[in-house]
Amino acid sequence: MRVDVDEPDAVEEFWSGMREAAAAAARHQDDDLYRAIVKIGKSALAQGVELVPSSGYFLQCPVCSAQSGQRCVNAPSHPLKENTLHPERIELSEKAIRGEVPLPEPLG
Ligand SMILES: [Zn+2]
Repeated sequence: MRVDVDEPDAVEEFWSGMREAAAAAARHQDDDLYRAIVKIGKSALAQGVELVPSSGYFLQCPVCSAQSGQRCVNAPSHPLKENTLHPERIELSEKAIRGEVPLPEPLG
């Protein structure tokens, strides 16, 4: 997959497609597809594609338990304000895609 990183929307578009695939994997509880998506994400990072906050959609939220592909919902003491994802989820997702933490069991 070739992404023109000079194109301002290209990165957002790339992760948007990945997010849709992750949502499909969650819907069908397809662990293999999910792992393939993470592999693609890692390889994109290795090629210099940057993570964007929406990459948090890959994982189930550790705060509100929103599933992969779903927006976060307000949780007690963790209001979302204008964000669609909890910051903890974005951080966890970045670490998981970079391989710094193991992937949480994603598909409950
Ligand atoms: Zn959340």
